[in-house]
Amino acid sequence: EMTDVAIIGAGPAGLTLANLLQRNGISCVVLESRDRSHVEDRQRAGVLDHYGSEIFAKAGLADAVIAGAYREKFLELRYEGEPHFFDGPSHAGGRAGVIVPQQLLVRRLLTTFLEGGGDLRFAAKDVALHDLTTTPRVTYAGGELTASYVAGCDGFHGVSRGSIPAAELTTYSFDHGIGWYTVLAEAPPPRHALMAISEHGFAAQFARGPHSSRFYLEYRPGAEDPREWPDDYTWEQLRLRLGDPDLPGGAITDKEIVEMRSFVAEPMAYANLFLAGDAAHIITPMGAKGMNLALADADVLATALTAALRDADDGPLRSYSDTCLRRTWDYQEFSRWFTEMVHDAGAQSDPFRRRLAKARFDRLWANPKAAAWFADMMAGTALL
Ligand code: FAD
Repeated sequence: EMTDVAIIGAGPAGLTLANLLQRNGISCVVLESRDRSHVEDRQRAGVLDHYGSEIFAKAGLADAVIAGAYREKFLELRYEGEPHFFDGPSHAGGRAGVIVPQQLLVRRLLTTFLEGGGDLRFAAKDVALHDLTTTPRVTYAGGELTASYVAGCDGFHGVSRGSIPAAELTTYSFDHGIGWYTVLAEAPPPRHALMAISEHGFAAQFARGPHSSRFYLEYRPGAEDPREWPDDYTWEQLRLRLGDPDLPGGAITDKEIVEMRSFVAEPMAYANLFLAGDAAHIITPMGAKGMNLALADADVLATALTAALRDADDGPLRSYSDTCLRRTWDYQEFSRWFTEMVHDAGAQSDPFRRRLAKARFDRLWANPKAAAWFADMMAGTALL
């Protein structure tokens, strides 16, 4: 069996790429190791930034993908109980992100691709990549494909990155030294996305439907295990950090640990294999860029593959990795900047760093250019 592009993985990166190629008339086959219900129900990211939503608008997929989504306006940054409302869109020329939970985005992209006659094979086990420097072959349990190019969109634990000879890759890993504990609770959602900076530690609250909230609490990895915290203690910590003694409690229905780490593999390409999304990089959730970075990679890759296959121009493919790495590092820096601002205020931080974090926070309200930069990063940026 032959196809132009073999796409490994049906997450946000793989499905966006598949839809964009389909619209450009390029043939592709998507191989996904899990079954359809698993892929459709996986809850992760929640915010599509403005740049991400433009990718779908530009491709004529806005109705299919973002119809009816709520536009984000305010972010509440609460400092020791004191509310500050950041109006990102007004500082960014009206560019607003939209609330599109990742599982909804994935479901809509899947449906659109399949309705357009797309070839997506679920439960494709034991995917292996061969002959990447000549004509790539992809084998899996029960099948084999020959493709001009392979797109490795199979996430951090996928098979694609590992198919690149180790000597060809440079990897960067960074542990931010912070832990996040997240709980889903039957508690009234906040009016606006809320992040609280406090000497008691960072906490955040986001709406998850009309009657529930997802909370995040910073913890000290190694020194404590929040999965052992009684729920009463979790509520007590949330009231302290959010500076809201009247915060209503409620049943906690899910508890998880979120890793605060960063990873980048360079380059994002090897011969005829191109990595996109988490297969190439992991970013902390601060700034909500993980999914958006995956979509941006897929967009650049779709354009480059189309130029190579339709117009015999492989220039954009050759620069794919450099183009995507510039944005990747830009977003990594933003995520780190944001992480420091909201975590360094904690009582356990170095006193000098606590002052720096406060200065960083104050600048956002005192300096319109700083506010515009922050809003621009939240909205997502075009290529540098
Ligand atoms: P993935 O979504 O990981 O998709 C990869 C796909 O490949 C999966 O469907 C997988 O089953 C498949 N696959 C894997 N291995 C193989 C194989 N060998 N063969 C075939 N298929 C394979 N980002 C944010 O922006 N905001 C957030 O709030 C946020 N929260 C997160 C919470 C959690 C718990 C996690 C894990 C991530 C979170 N992220 C968040 C990050 C975001 O979800 C990812 O950046 C995004 O999913 C990346 O998309 P992707 O398509 O590159 O990879």
